[in-house]
Amino acid sequence: MQTIKAAVCHEFGAPLVIEDIQLRAPKVGEVEVTLHAVAICHSDISFADGAWGGSLPAVYGHEAAGVVSAVGETVQGVAVGDSVVVTLIRACGTCPSCAGGKPTICETPYDGDQGPIRTADDGMLHQAMACGAFAEKVVVDQSQLVKVPASMPMDAASLIACGVITGVGAVVNAAGLRAGEDVVVIGAGGVGLNAIQGARIAGARRIVAVDMTEDKLDDATAFGATHGVLATGEAPWREAYKALGGKGAEAVIVTVGAIPAYDQAPRYLGRGGKVVMVGMPHSGAMAEYEPVNLAYLGQGMVGSKMGDVVIQRDIPWMVDLYLQGRLQLDSLISGRWSLDQINDAIADTKGGKARRNVIMFNR
Ligand SMILES: [Zn+2]
Ligand SMILES: [Zn+2]
Repeated sequence: MQTIKAAVCHEFGAPLVIEDIQLRAPKVGEVEVTLHAVAICHSDISFADGAWGGSLPAVYGHEAAGVVSAVGETVQGVAVGDSVVVTLIRACGTCPSCAGGKPTICETPYDGDQGPIRTADDGMLHQAMACGAFAEKVVVDQSQLVKVPASMPMDAASLIACGVITGVGAVVNAAGLRAGEDVVVIGAGGVGLNAIQGARIAGARRIVAVDMTEDKLDDATAFGATHGVLATGEAPWREAYKALGGKGAEAVIVTVGAIPAYDQAPRYLGRGGKVVMVGMPHSGAMAEYEPVNLAYLGQGMVGSKMGDVVIQRDIPWMVDLYLQGRLQLDSLISGRWSLDQINDAIADTKGGKARRNVIMFNR
């Protein structure tokens, strides 16, 4: 066991507490990563607010990057000193979902209560999302890691672990967008901007961003949206039809958790189009839509977890696109903070204006 600093949630809705915790050495198939950067995602905030329940005390944080500092037995592909992206996608590799090429919905359960971290007085400490990256170090399964070049900046690398793969993957993998098709992206926040640049990279003909403020629509334009529609207007989908030459889109990506966005999403669809649901509403929230239209117009609705990525396949090409200047990551970062400032960083994210706030460990 070694002692590290972490931001611990003891009570839903209360500020995180920076304290010493214990981290055990990596076991078979596990890797210890000394973190350089961890981004704050809305999922961390929803967990800390109690939106989805879960064990307490807990350490959240799941968009991270760092350097491998120890490896357990049988680990292959990464060695001490390697730069890695750390994701929450823990995949056994052998269950039907993993074997079928869908590791994001791995069926082998993981009990974060029995994970590698304990409180300073040796009590249970839940490793949330199989990660617990609001901490100086993590011990995770090797399936959660992808090696990246040493030239990859750590703050940019951390973003790839969740928001980027979720947004880009929703378009490329879940919607299966083909060059020349039209896309509507509802929500131009952290994930939405990545769906927009995913659509640009995939060769979308027109990319319509839908959000509540002009500021967000300006952000969307900077990431590749060709049109912006204010969601605050009456029947905003009619504005989108205008932008799309009088029809709906082949793909509508919902990147926010607000229920009205889910109610309205099918309205933006063209014939044969597909809604991809990426945002994460609170448990129990319900949405309404008109099934007859989906049947009559051959439309579909599908959920996408983590952009349906296979991280070992998808993260290396995203890293290359970034290093070639074709994937924007630096401009996604709106603030850099220390671990001690994490509650301020979370408050800033909750304020709604931030893109991604990143905790830097100053190594
Ligand atoms: Zn996330
Ligand atoms: Zn599996």
